[in-house]
Formats: sequence, C-alpha cells, structure tokens
Amino acid sequence: MDPTVVFVYDDGPLADYEDVYPVHRRFDAPACVAVVTEWLGETPRLPARLVGRGTTHLDESHLREFVADGWEVCAHGVAHRPLDATRTTAPVPAGDRVLPVETALHGRVAGDTLRIDTPADGEVRASVARPTRHPRQTALVLRDPLTQPVPAGSTVRYAKSVVREELAGAKRALDARGFDVTSVALPYSRYGPTARAVVSETYDAVANAAVGGLNTNPENPHELRRQYLGRDALSDAQLERFMETVRERDALALFGGHSHAHVDAARVADALRLAENLGIRVTTLRDAAADVRACARENEE
Ligand SMILES: [Zn+2]
Repeated sequence: MDPTVVFVYDDGPLADYEDVYPVHRRFDAPACVAVVTEWLGETPRLPARLVGRGTTHLDESHLREFVADGWEVCAHGVAHRPLDATRTTAPVPAGDRVLPVETALHGRVAGDTLRIDTPADGEVRASVARPTRHPRQTALVLRDPLTQPVPAGSTVRYAKSVVREELAGAKRALDARGFDVTSVALPYSRYGPTARAVVSETYDAVANAAVGGLNTNPENPHELRRQYLGRDALSDAQLERFMETVRERDALALFGGHSHAHVDAARVADALRLAENLGIRVTTLRDAAADVRACARENEE
C-alpha cells in the first residue's frame, strides 16, 4: 500500500480539541479520537478519581466538529476496563474478600463479575465490591467472601459478559449518538482471547493490537501495531528515522498518544511535517483498514 500514517488519540481529553486539532487543521490532515463513552463530557472529578490524572473531556459537540472535518471517532471502551488477565500474588483462603493482584485495574467498576482460574483448573466467580481508587493499587476488594481458596498465580479476568459490554457497549453508545463507529483502540492496549472474539465481530479495525507502530504488508486490520508518539517513547531522531522507514517500506504507521501528557502540539507538528515532506499520506484508521483489506485481496488473487 502507499506509505500511510494514522494518528489515534486516546481517552478523549479536551486537549485533543484545544491543542492537537488546530495542528492537524493546519496540515489539512485528519486524525482519530478514541473515546471512553462514560467519560464523554466529564469534568475532572470522575477521571481524576479513577485514573489519578485530572482532565476535562470532549463532549458530543467536539466529536461532531471532528467528524465534519473528516476525522474518525473510535471506541475506547465504556469505562476503560483492561481486557486481559492479571494474576494473584499471594494465596487467599476461602472466606476472604481481598484478592492481592499484580495490578488492580480490573476493579475499576463496582459490581463487575470476575473469573478467577486457579492453576488446578478450578474456576471461581467473584464480583468487585469497591472500585479501585488508584492505578497502582494491588488488591481487589470482592463483594462476597471467596467460596474456595485461591492459590498465588491464579489468573483474574473479566467474565465474558463484562468484556462484551465494554467493547460492544461502547460502539452501541456511540452509534446511538449518531456516530458511525467501526474502529476500536483497546484500553491500556490490552487484548485477551475473549476481547479478540468480540472485537472481530464488532469492529473492522483495532488501533493497538500490539506495540511497534510499523505495519509492513499488513493483512489483518484487527492485528495492527501502534507506536506511542510521545518524546518519552521516541526521540526526535528516532521519529525522523521511523518516518523515513514508513516511506521506504510502503508501510502503514499508527501513532498513538495522550494529548494531555507527552504528546503536545509541537510533537504532532513535527510528525505531520515529516509526513508532508516525505509524501506520506495521513488518513483515518477506517480508510487505512479498507486499504489493508483491498491489498490483502489483491495479494490473494
Ligand atoms: Zn486509554
């Protein structure tokens, strides 16, 4: 395919509109915003409590303006739940309600059903009692006492119904507001087997199935790699080299970022200027995914 770059900004902070949008307009280059439906129109209170980072979010009117300007609205979950598993870090006896885990992100939403798989093939159901207050918290608080002991090293993941709600519910909520959503960015870039199954029946493309960003001869829009655009992840020299490689190898590059942290207007302008100078097309994930499919079909014939 023609050398192409897609920008997907996550989480829907207002900075997408205030800082990054004017830069894209200046270069006449569209981008994608991946929004968390429960955060739309939110003021700092809720996200600050949930993710420890205060920010105000985009609302529907911003999204409409983006779409009118050729941008794409992607889903990024209903409540930014991690869609893979974590692991217990210590044994827990039956009757306990606190589950020590590597990261307690699965405790984001009270009432969510968890599935705990023990190494001895046992399966335990539990539900979240209190939402996780801090992203570095390392224990989940359960609503009911465990009915059986859980050894260290057991996997903890969401029940299928929760994964389905997080992914399909986000599309449903955005479609109901009149946005035609065909792409998703996975919360925390985490992808598990259940999420893969739900995504493949719900979305045409995934922005961040893996890290890396450079997709050469991509065949499946559900398995694309994305590179974080922040200077903390990519130096100026590395960005230049990366973009040259996109052109040399006729690759599809995906950039991701948080416009409220590390990815500022100057950095976005650097990337867009490189794309312009190197003749790299800037488009939406929807358009790029359609090209990926068309190229894959041609290669088959
Ligand atoms: Zn996110």
